[in-house]
Order: sequence, then structure tokens, then C-alpha cells
Amino acid sequence: MRYVSTRGGMAPATFSDILLGGLAPDGGLTLPEDYPTLTPGELASWRELSYPELAFAILRKFADDLPAEDLRTLIDKTYTVEAFHTEDITPVKTLLDGVGLLELSNGPTLAFKDIALQLLGNLFEYALLKTGGHLNILGATSGDTGSSAEYAMRGKHGIRVFMLSPHQKMSRFQTAQMFSLQDPNIFNIAVHGVFDDCQDMVKAVSHDAEFKARYAIGTVNSINWARVAAQIVYYFKGWLAVTEHDDQEVSFAVPSGNFGNICAGYIAKRMGLPIRRLILATNENNVLDEFFRTGVYRVRKPDQVAHTSSPSMDISKASNFERFIYDVVGRDPAVVRELWRQVDDYGFFDLSGTDAFRNIQQFGFISGSSNHPNRMAIIRRVYQECGVMIDTHTADGLKVGLEYREEGVPLLCLETALPAKFEESITEALGRLPERPTGYENIEELPQRFEVMDAEVDQIKHYIVRHAG
Ligand SMILES: *Cc1c(COP(=O)(O)O)cnc(C)c1O
Repeated sequence: MRYVSTRGGMAPATFSDILLGGLAPDGGLTLPEDYPTLTPGELASWRELSYPELAFAILRKFADDLPAEDLRTLIDKTYTVEAFHTEDITPVKTLLDGVGLLELSNGPTLAFKDIALQLLGNLFEYALLKTGGHLNILGATSGDTGSSAEYAMRGKHGIRVFMLSPHQKMSRFQTAQMFSLQDPNIFNIAVHGVFDDCQDMVKAVSHDAEFKARYAIGTVNSINWARVAAQIVYYFKGWLAVTEHDDQEVSFAVPSGNFGNICAGYIAKRMGLPIRRLILATNENNVLDEFFRTGVYRVRKPDQVAHTSSPSMDISKASNFERFIYDVVGRDPAVVRELWRQVDDYGFFDLSGTDAFRNIQQFGFISGSSNHPNRMAIIRRVYQECGVMIDTHTADGLKVGLEYREEGVPLLCLETALPAKFEESITEALGRLPERPTGYENIEELPQRFEVMDAEVDQIKHYIVRHAG
């Protein structure tokens, strides 16, 4: 399998070549030259597989340049009962007749990003051990991504993580989750400022090409291809869990922000998984819903992004969207370049009235959005009717999913986080605190390890110079 860039300026590369990278050298995103497709009978032969076996069967199609036994070892080491607290890794929980939750949040940080990042940690370590290199991961977080990245990279050879977060602005639970890590390769930096200050510091360091190269600065952002690939697996797992015959269709409702999760579902469908609808759900930040309804992709300015009670979906632009648009415009990199030039210059592009947009139905997407009252209502309803607590992001997905539910077609809503992470919203909806999984009861009491810093680029640079691998 060879990988190309959506902007057409990268020589075809292998999985290993693009593994550690973010953007392609030409500023585009990487994708397989052709999607692998299922062979006749292959899906049926996967029914009895465990999660790691299924992950291996799927990922070897994408990572075909890694020795098969190495890939199998990395996958077996990742998807364990110890890390995910369940043999199935991503079990399905039935809510109503024909409606289920695909549980993706049983990993160490109680959010779906663990599924991809836990594998990424092992893949990165493996790649660095092979080349003898090292990597200093620099990131900014307002909560979710940072903790997922830290739990993926803790204790990994050749990797150090420098994670900036706004001082005293994360929830107590999130702060405790990150700052209680005692691994010497994890550096938590609490910045006097807001999330945007943290992100600006990361950008400033990344734009200093000499510093970046000298200290092997890397990132773990959501455009990394391996993350998308790892997420394809649970669409198959969910489909296999609720079907008996190989031509049965299933619809998936996906709480969406950067279009990473649902992009994986789209690729599963292209591989031949019988997915009927990919139901994209946004919160009040409805950039993607607007596109699927109107054909206009309009990014927001940072001050136009609403701070909502499903904060991990508060995005101004959807960083993985370019992968899908590349296919929509017939894989023509010149068109993609032109569309993103328009985004840079005018803040939007408009595909309404084009053949590309008229034909978009064939890709199976449908969209809707949700808001704070919708979330509260659905959290209450699911708790009262099914005795199940769901978090605010999953609530956005389920709200939109139920609107498009079809008779006779199983609907799986992706559970992207556990309610324990969002105590305030759950208390507002239900008048009680969410349950916490075993082991997280007293997380706030654990000793914390972090550094406080002003929002100044020189300070973080000096810190990296002193602590880099
Ligand atoms: C990241 C995240 C999302 C959005 O996923 P994308 O891949 O960015 O679309 C939704 N819910 C939760 C809880 C998340 O952490």
C-alpha cells in the first residue's frame, strides 16, 4: 500500500514513512492511494475474532510494510483487558430495541481517543527503537487530547511529552488525571493564561524550524494517519456485534469535531463494510452540519467558537475534513489546493450546485446538530428509560442519531467519553454525580507533578532545552 497527499505534492510513501508525521510535506493530508477492499467471505471469517485479531486483520492491509509479527505484537500489547477493562475492548450496550451504544471509552482516560492513541504510543516507540531516534512531543490541551496522549506515551522509550495546559482552568478530574502521572518522560506545564495562549506557544515553537529540528519536536494531532486507521477497526467490531448476516446494513451516529472518528467510518464503508448511514452530529459549533446541509464549508474564527457543554467538539475547523473532500472532488489535488486556498483567503468554500455535491449522497453521510437543552434532555431520557448514563458528547450523537433512525436498521451510537469526565453537566441533567469506574474514585487525592510557567515562548523553549531527550 502506498500513501499520497491530498495536495498531490508528495512522492508515494509507505505506512512507516508517514507514521510519525502530521501534515504531508506539501501541507496536505495523507491517504492510501487505493482503499483496500474486503475479499469475498472475509467479513464472515472475522465473526469469531477477538478485538486484537480483528485489528490485526484490518491494520495489516494499511501497514503492509511492517513485518506481520511485529504488527501483531504491537496490537496484542495495546488492546488488553488491563488497559480497556473489558475483553471486547469496544462492547455494544443495548439501549432500546435496535439502538445500541458502541462503547469506545473504557480505556485509561475514559474517552475514545485512547483507542487510537494507545496503539500510536506503541507504534511510535517501535519506529524510534528501529531508527535509534527520539521524539519530544509538544502539545497544548484543554483536557481530553492531552491526557490521552500522556497515557499513550508514558514510559515509552525515546519519547518525552511536554504538555501545556491553562493553569487552574481544567476540571479537577482532568487536572488530576494528567498531573498525577509520575512517569519521568511526562512533563506537565501549567501556563498562566487560557488554552489559546498554550496553543500559541506550541505554534511559535513549531514555526522555529531550526529549534524544531534540533530538538526533534513532534506532535500527536488528530490528522495523523495511523490514528484514523486504528479507528476503522471498531466500526467493524460494532457491525459484527449487531448483525448475523453479511449483507445486513447498520447505521452509525458519530459525535464529531475534527472529522477524525467519522472519517474512519467512511473508510470502513469504502472497504466494503455494509454501513447504511454515517450520521454526523455536531454541537452548536456546526461547521460540518452546515456543509452537509448546504455544500458550504465555512470555518469559524476563534472568537466565533462557542464554549459548550460538549467541549471536545468545540472546533473552528475540521482538520481531517480534507481527506473526505479529496474523494468528493474525484481525488483531484488541484481542486483540493484551490478549495483550501479559498478557505485561507475567504474563510470558506462553496460546493453547492456542483456535481460533486449533488453526488455526495453516495457516500452515505447525513448530518444534524444538537445544543445544550437537547443534551440535557437526552441524558435524562436515557437514564430514565434505559438506566444508562451517557456523557454530553455521546448525547449529541444519540440526539441526532435518533432523528434519523430507520425501522429495521440497527443504529449504533458511538460513545466517545464516559459521563465521569463531565460531572457538572451530569449533575445539571440528573441532579446526581456520575459513577466513576473502579480505580478513579480518589484520583484528586493523588500527588500531582507539574510546573507552572508564564505564557512566554522563551520559557517553554528553555524548559525543553533542559529536559529534552
Ligand atoms: C475528540 C472528541 C470528539 C470529536 O472527535 P473527532 O474525531 O474530532 O470528530 C467527540 N467526543 C469526544 C469526547 C472527544 O474527545
